[in-house]
Amino acid sequence: MAPTTLITGGAGFIGSHLATRLTGGGEAVRVVDDLSTGRQENLAHLPQDQVELIVADAAEYLARPNALQGIHRVYHLAAAVGVQLIVDQPAAMIRNNVEKTAAVLEACADAGLPVLIASSSEVYGKCPVLPLREDMDLVFGPTSASRWSYGMTKAIDEHLAIDLARQRGLRSVVIRLFNTIGPRQIGRYGMVVPRFVSAAAAGQPLTVYGDGSQTRAFCDVRDVVGAMTRLMDEPDAYGRVFNVGSDQQTTIDQLADRVIALTASRSDGRRTPTKRYVSYEAAYGEGFEDPPHRLPDLTRLRETIGFSPAYSLEQTLTELIDDLLLPNAIGSTGGLGEEE
Ligand code: UDP
Repeated sequence: MAPTTLITGGAGFIGSHLATRLTGGGEAVRVVDDLSTGRQENLAHLPQDQVELIVADAAEYLARPNALQGIHRVYHLAAAVGVQLIVDQPAAMIRNNVEKTAAVLEACADAGLPVLIASSSEVYGKCPVLPLREDMDLVFGPTSASRWSYGMTKAIDEHLAIDLARQRGLRSVVIRLFNTIGPRQIGRYGMVVPRFVSAAAAGQPLTVYGDGSQTRAFCDVRDVVGAMTRLMDEPDAYGRVFNVGSDQQTTIDQLADRVIALTASRSDGRRTPTKRYVSYEAAYGEGFEDPPHRLPDLTRLRETIGFSPAYSLEQTLTELIDDLLLPNAIGSTGGLGEEE
């Protein structure tokens, strides 16, 4: 039997694209996902004889006898998703992120399997120096602002992965994911691009938080999962941390303008949505802190795997807008999924 790759959180946005890439290369994939934010339909397009979905919490699954039998590597992506969920339920998120990752890493160390874990650009917190480099000091805000708890849990996860690499020779790779976009991402958990695109396609105003001068760099999920599989195959990556994302910055205000212009051009001017501005307090509640800028230094990633993204922001936005405006467009990837 062909070796199988285990993906925790594989029914989520990024996990399902990773499954697409691996099955496209002929691999068998076992997805373990509790479907709390993942969705079964994210896997519907895959060759069903190459994908197995187990609906379970990752830690609970790994406690089963022979859970890793026939598995040759593990991608651990299961985690709480989105700023909104984190602000709403920090305690549940903290336990979830730390306990699950500890269980996965221990199981991989016991079984001698390589493992890649998804950390986040949130670990940089409000680090004032740009671009953000993997060996920088991490700067978190006060514990009264619950946002920072997410980055702290991911930093603990990183420590666990690095410690097990040192102590037990675990072949662990840590990636810090920056803003990732693409087909099947939904706006329900706060992500700005699917929110803007679905609002624009529905003819509703795009809601910009603050004055829109904050900047982000968005990377297409297909470039992200390409980097993940290449890092997993690269022994030089073991025991190390990598930024994964784009270094092409845009302000959120410019992003809104691009989505509006593309929507107008793709609908022959029938739809020209507008923008509206709301304060951070109104959007996320009192005391919320939003990093004004977030930009990865990609030197380490480039040196290790020669990373160069294939998709521009314009390309991804165009595809997402076409998917919603022209559901039968050639190359349609099935839309963005449902919105609240
Ligand atoms: N944002 C926005 N409108 C929205 C959702 C988000 O203006 O409907 C802003 C948000 O405040 C942040 C940026 O867009 O400055 C990116 O937000 P997202 O939640 O996608 O990612 P993150 O904050 O984790 O970078």
